[in-house]
Amino acid sequence: MSADLINVHSYSAGSWLPSMQMPDKGGRAIYNAVDGQILGFAGNNSLDIEAMHQHATDVGGAGLRAMGFHGRARALKAMATHINAHKERLYTLGYMAGATRGDSWIDVDGGIGTLFAYASKGRRELPDSTVFLDGDVEQLSRKGSFVGQHICTPKLGVGIHINAFNFPVWGMLEKLAASLLAGVPAIVKPATDTCYITEACFRLMVESDAFPEGSFQLIAGSTGNLLDLLGPQDVVSFTGSAQTALQLRSNRNLLQYSIPFIAEQDSLNASVLGPDAVNGTPEFDLFVDEVVREMTTKAGQKCTAIRRIMAPDNQVEAVKDAIADRLQSINVGDPALKETDMGPLVSAAQRNNVLAINQQIGQEADTVFDGGTLAVNGVEGAEGGFVRPTLFHCPQPDAADLVHRLEAFGPTSTLMGYQDTDHVCALLNRGGGSLVASLITHDSGFARDVVAGSAAWHGRFYINDRTSMKESTGHGSPLPHMVHGGPGRAGGGEELGGIRAVMHYMQRTAIQGSPDMLSAVGHTWIAGAKTVETDSHPFTRGFDALKLGEIFYSPSRTITLDDIEHFAHFTGDTFYAHMDEEAAKANPFFPGRVAHGYLLLSFAAGLFVQPDPGPVLANTGLSDLVFQKPVAAKDTIRVELTVRRKTRRNDDYGEVRWHVALFNQDDEAVATYTLHTMNQYQSG
Ligand code: NAP
Repeated sequence: MSADLINVHSYSAGSWLPSMQMPDKGGRAIYNAVDGQILGFAGNNSLDIEAMHQHATDVGGAGLRAMGFHGRARALKAMATHINAHKERLYTLGYMAGATRGDSWIDVDGGIGTLFAYASKGRRELPDSTVFLDGDVEQLSRKGSFVGQHICTPKLGVGIHINAFNFPVWGMLEKLAASLLAGVPAIVKPATDTCYITEACFRLMVESDAFPEGSFQLIAGSTGNLLDLLGPQDVVSFTGSAQTALQLRSNRNLLQYSIPFIAEQDSLNASVLGPDAVNGTPEFDLFVDEVVREMTTKAGQKCTAIRRIMAPDNQVEAVKDAIADRLQSINVGDPALKETDMGPLVSAAQRNNVLAINQQIGQEADTVFDGGTLAVNGVEGAEGGFVRPTLFHCPQPDAADLVHRLEAFGPTSTLMGYQDTDHVCALLNRGGGSLVASLITHDSGFARDVVAGSAAWHGRFYINDRTSMKESTGHGSPLPHMVHGGPGRAGGGEELGGIRAVMHYMQRTAIQGSPDMLSAVGHTWIAGAKTVETDSHPFTRGFDALKLGEIFYSPSRTITLDDIEHFAHFTGDTFYAHMDEEAAKANPFFPGRVAHGYLLLSFAAGLFVQPDPGPVLANTGLSDLVFQKPVAAKDTIRVELTVRRKTRRNDDYGEVRWHVALFNQDDEAVATYTLHTMNQYQSG
């Protein structure tokens, strides 16, 4: 193989395996998007796919699970930091795939940002343990000796991540973030056209040494018989065309073993201009900006790009003119040049695809703009994937079929007029399911009605107007916090959406048993489980020394009418239930004047705190507060304080969650809540 050609390596069981040049040995050529020249090769039939699967299951899975959620979250952050420090090469390679620097920013920095977001969410929203508790404890028996709880644990298999060519970095990292955080190793299969960029990022991941061996492996080229080797603990997460998704999800082995198949596929995303947003309003300009940006960013090769543009009938002409005017000034050319707005498609083959689909769309729509006069700048006699933006107008959108069905994966979009809210909902829904629909309107009533009539057909609804436009993230940007995926035509899958994505790689199991059993299984003390009383006050002992279920019984205190009046005047809370016997009695909830709930909380703190300086650094919050029974003057209260859960935060301190229960003189529960404190590890 010529030294100048890129040889994309696979990474299998800790070793790099080069690709072959010959097609009969598994090699596939990769082309430069700009000049169409051969760039290199990917694929090698001698890759031992079965050994990769085994390695991931036996070595990777065990190593990952041993780290717990927080260990894996920290590793994600370390890996993201390393990639971020060495990302420049990914930008350089991006030019060969046709991506401008701005295009690659979405891919590279978007991917790194997703890792950081999951690293942070993992530490904040997942427990410092190996088991995720899903929901509250369910009482399944009268006396509470038999209870239930749903838990999620990592699947014991492998995540197979098959990605599309258009996001060689983000596509890999957004899937890995969820899979690795869950504790499930991955085998990554990038699309061949851009796998050299994925490989370069993958090398940085390996170099970062953040995750144990076997956590991720890479297949350049064909996956061979991988899908036939999978078992019930594996998960397939696919991004690509509807056609490939259908072929892969029909695999007999996947069907036979009920192997989850998460599909993110193409869709006919639409953007709607509200009836209020007429020419001359900020929303009209915003709409045109969003449409032009979505048509030209990555040369329209975004799964979320706007393929259908919907405007009120009386605005269609103005929208046509405004978009065509803006497209006229798009600078198409060499993606490496600063002044270029739009580079080529990934390959000549992709360009031919887009042109063929444009021809079909042209059967139902008129061409408004085809970029015929636009020059390709900075490239001599280009053989690559250059196409110019094309805007169609479909005059009969109800009678049309192809414009709602065919995705030209390039800078092509079709404008159509609508009459009213019902009509625009019907047109939106003709896409058969999409990743995202957007609505540019300042009329919240219109937004409410369109969402009610159409949200069920879309994975995300993006509403933008003059209020949010400065800070909004764009129609086409999937965010780690929000669900990415859509029903029907869009594949029916879901990715991202915060911790929801992690759950795709975990098994939910309903656990039933005694409170002691469930406390042990879930690493969290639950009410009814055994408690232990120690000689010293728990506030005097460090985080490390505290045990789950350790309890402190406070002395008791009798509430007086003076206490209630003093608190009322001191705080200004002179609500009648505390001050007016007759009015309080008339209230169905109170026997007469009662103590303030906040007074009870304050007295509770006074009853359980140990006041000296010690390992408890701060009270950081209180949650799940419930007042169960009113407390009147002459009632006596006492507190039980139990260590419920512990979460390490950094090398110096961790968070302790305490179950706090207040009882009256008859041992009736009057209030419960969870107290959060930050505690030093060592007592001294
Ligand atoms: P594609 O042709 O469907 O390929 C997708 C992936 O499937 C590639 O990695 C491809 O590998 C692999 N693949 C194909 N046949 C396979 C087989 N028999 N076994 C295992 N893997 C196989 O899609 P693409 O051209 O890369 O991407 C463009 C499409 O993706 C567009 O339609 C776009 O809308 C969609 N997309 C959707 C999203 C989303 O999030 N919903 C995001 C990006 C793109 P090879 O490259 O080696 O064939």
